[in-house]
Amino acid sequence: MKNNRSVELFKEAQQFIPGGVNSPVRAFKSVGADPLFITKAAGPNIWDVDGNRFIDFVGSWGPMILGHCHPQVVEEVKKAVDAGSSFGAPTELEITLAKMVVKAVPSIEMVRMVSSGTEATMSAIRLARGYTGKDKILKFAGCYHGHADSLLVKAGSGAATFGVPDSPGVPPDFAKHTLTADFNSLESVRTLVAQNNGNIACIIVEPIAGNMGTVPPRDGFLEGLRSICDEEGIILIFDEVMTGFRVALGGAQELYGVTPDMTTLGKIIGGGLPVGAFGGKKDIMSLLSPSGGVYQAGTLSGNPLAMTAGIETLKLLQTDGFYQKLEEKSAYLAAGIERAAKEAGYPIYSTRVGSMFCAFFTKGEVHDWATAAACDTKAFATYFKGMLDEGIYLAPSQFETAFVSIAHADSDLDKTIAAAGKAFKAL
Ligand SMILES: *Cc1c(COP(=O)(O)O)cnc(C)c1O
Repeated sequence: MKNNRSVELFKEAQQFIPGGVNSPVRAFKSVGADPLFITKAAGPNIWDVDGNRFIDFVGSWGPMILGHCHPQVVEEVKKAVDAGSSFGAPTELEITLAKMVVKAVPSIEMVRMVSSGTEATMSAIRLARGYTGKDKILKFAGCYHGHADSLLVKAGSGAATFGVPDSPGVPPDFAKHTLTADFNSLESVRTLVAQNNGNIACIIVEPIAGNMGTVPPRDGFLEGLRSICDEEGIILIFDEVMTGFRVALGGAQELYGVTPDMTTLGKIIGGGLPVGAFGGKKDIMSLLSPSGGVYQAGTLSGNPLAMTAGIETLKLLQTDGFYQKLEEKSAYLAAGIERAAKEAGYPIYSTRVGSMFCAFFTKGEVHDWATAAACDTKAFATYFKGMLDEGIYLAPSQFETAFVSIAHADSDLDKTIAAAGKAFKAL
């Protein structure tokens, strides 16, 4: 595969942009390769600056559930640009999207728009703290909730009480308010709750973990979190930035029938433009400025272009049989890849919920960060490069989710399965 121009651009980018990228995982560092510079995308495909075409399973890390450049979204966004790209004043579009979200997502009675998932989780936590008057928060190892200080903590093993920051620049004084439990372990949650009796504002969780590969919740895990929160007066926040509108219109909470107190959204809700949102019960959301005292604001929040892309995307998700069709495509693909691995004599642990899936390069099962981290990331890197050579664009890390879009045709899926067969055999 020719990639001369991408290599050149990456060299140039590194002189002016830290690490050459505006978000770390784009750098392909964990697979030991140079990133491809992209020029355009359409449907299931993206093209790089050297003219290579790929079948894309990154989908901009989640938003592109319709595939790229859906004509209806593109047309309406173009009209919106002509009407003015930002006013910093209320628009009817914001009400339209808010109503669609309230109708779709079981836990949300009121919603505030922001510009990224990071802002959504950061603000939701501030509100949970403001509402409960408590400082501590509980998260799970391997769950990613954006890069706000208090969330960049996964806590080393044994550090049960005090969080350890993952990044220089996060003061231990902030991190100590973040408790870290093990995903899928109610026991680990109960222990921390008991140790921090009465001091926990919220539990924040990806209801389907999607940032350590794809790790579905075990039966009863989400229900158990719900009861612990009810018993202890803790706010339960589902971070559905990835799963919202992805695994069902109403997100993981609809799929599993567990209703959190608050929900954070992002990715699909912006249809490829920068949007995040957080919402929940009226009595909690009403504490937000200007109706309440918990401050949160944004110059571009509720931006008309982003609202338009979100509205059109959500409309299209509500067409008949959308999620059923997506489920069928995804089931076919994930099963095909699993079969290809088996035939090549390279067993993987395959996980999938709807159009989120992952091939873990491990012989064991994966249910939490410890078991995910046991994967053979070197073998994954080889597989990743093999797939890229065959025209398949995957996320450049073992610990990411692959996304199927409605634009992936059967022929794209078959081509991907064939490529996987080849890549597994080369391992
Ligand atoms: C992507 C993601 C975020 C962060 O969203 P950004 O828009 O990248 O800030 C937060 N939580 C989850 C679950 C995510 O997948």
